Amino acid sequence: MKIRVRKELIDGVLAYSREMHPREIILLLGGKAGNDVEVNRVVVPPKAIHGLGFSGFQQYMLPFDLSIVGAVHSHPSGSSSPSVHDLNHPYGKITMIVAYPYRSVDDITIFGKRGQMLPFEVVVQ
Ligand SMILES: [Zn+2]
Repeated sequence: MKIRVRKELIDGVLAYSREMHPREIILLLGGKAGNDVEVNRVVVPPKAIHGLGFSGFQQYMLPFDLSIVGAVHSHPSGSSSPSVHDLNHPYGKITMIVAYPYRSVDDITIFGKRGQMLPFEVVVQ
């Protein structure tokens, strides 16, 4: 499985994480998922809860949307590893974690449903 993420989206997620720090952000990732995954947009989950060290949303509130491939959230703690909660509650195929200080793509990690780190490619289009 190859993962491609638009550079524009990476930059947007980094900027949003910096802006919201120390609050945690959570956004859904939209795109195409077949053998390969293409991430090209973010979707703000309805009823998103932003708070210190916690972010979540009610999954049943989400619109039925097959183009959601995963979710991204920030780790204001700076940890780039998924938490136990992240591993137990994956949303979609991929979990993207943006770790403090949210400077560049090096602060972004993508994990699969079993918590395995997945390499990804940044695409400019
Ligand atoms: Zn997390």
